[in-house]
Formats: sequence, structure tokens, C-alpha cells
Amino acid sequence: MRRTPATALVLALLTLAPAGRAAASPAVQAAVEHGLRGERKIALTFDACTTRAPSPYDPAITAVLEAMHVPATIFVGGGWAREEPAALAELARDPLLEIGNHTETHPHLTRLPDARIREELLAAQRDIAAVTGRAPTLFRPPYGEYDARVLRVAAELGLTTIEYDLPSGDPDPRATTPALIRWVLREARPGSIIVMHINHPRFHTAEALPAIVAGLRARGFELVTVGELLRERERGAVATAATST
Ligand SMILES: [Zn+2]
Repeated sequence: MRRTPATALVLALLTLAPAGRAAASPAVQAAVEHGLRGERKIALTFDACTTRAPSPYDPAITAVLEAMHVPATIFVGGGWAREEPAALAELARDPLLEIGNHTETHPHLTRLPDARIREELLAAQRDIAAVTGRAPTLFRPPYGEYDARVLRVAAELGLTTIEYDLPSGDPDPRATTPALIRWVLREARPGSIIVMHINHPRFHTAEALPAIVAGLRARGFELVTVGELLRERERGAVATAATST
């Protein structure tokens, strides 16, 4: 298809909207699954899910991130924040890390009415900010489940919905340390958002992480936060619009 300058500009603006203007425009309804495919940048993300049984913080993961100077994004459940305030405070103090919202109780959001979705997001904002002093601007829906309503309610609260394009599969009992390393290094692409967990020490996430980080870097990938991937998308869209006119 031949693109006229006008259609190129429209495409660029469409690309810009989901990442850059969620807070300003509640009408924006798209989840971010990855960053720019033309940039060798990848975001590692770690969910701290609120669970029925206690699911403790895995400090071995943070130790690897620290030792290897890896920026990362941690999506925290409000219930988990209340269970593990000391761990969350430590994560929030770390300049390498950014903290996102992973709902209060980890429900299947698409089965809830709007008002309950709103309550889930607001309660998590409150419980996270009570520990960290800051309300997140990024939100990850539990189980990766969302629809247009979830996106709209999140956008109305100033939250950008963040999905992923590469599930590490770390909860899978077959995800041994070598299997995790092989899978992530094989599937990672420019712009990938990779999801792992930071509240299940029995998973092999921490053991696999050093080889995953080293392997991604050896392939020329820079590891960044989701926030940085979003800023790249905005800059990319602006650059496309500028060169198209
Ligand atoms: Zn979760």
C-alpha cells in the first residue's frame, strides 16, 4: 500500500495515542503489549500478585537486578502491598525500579461491573501509595485479561494498561531453570515486554535471571523500564509524523 503523507501522519498519531496520552485522554482504549520493534530495547517486568495463600517476596530477584544493574518494572497487588510493606518500600526506593498497579485482590476484571473495576484499581493505588508515597501510572490486569471497559476505566483513572508479548511461563512446573532461559532468549524480540513473578520463591525465576540478562545483553538488547519503552514509542511516533509532512 502506498502511503500518502496525510495517511502516514494519521498512522503516526494513532500509534502515539495509546502510549502517550492515556492520562490526558480517557477516550484512549488500547493496551501496550510491546515497545518499538525497530529498537533493541526490552523491558523485564515482575508481577507481585495478591494471592489467597501468602506469597512472599523473593529478594533473590532484586539481588540479581541490583548486581547486574538491570532496570525493571514491578506490578504490585494492593493486597500484597499490605502483606509485604517492607519489601515494597525497598523496591520503591530502588532507582532502577518502577512500581505499577496490579489491582487490589487479583480478580478476573472482565467479569466485574465498572464500579468494581474502579474500586480494584483505586484500592491498589491507595495501598501502594501508602507505602511508597506515589500512586502508579502503569497498570497490569491480572491473568492478562482486559476488554474495552477495563481499558476505559483504567484510562479514566490516569492509568496506562500494560500487557506483555512474552510470558516467561515461570509459574509452569515444567519451567526449570534451563527451560526458562532457553525460552526467553529464543522468543525475545526488539521491544518485547517480558513478564515474570517476584512473589513465588519456589519458581526458578531468580536462578534463571542472570543468564537471561546476560543472554539478552549479548544479543545487543538494552534492558529498560516499561516507562522508558513508552517514552521511546512517543519519540518514534513524533519522529514519524515530523518526517512525513
Ligand atoms: Zn498477577
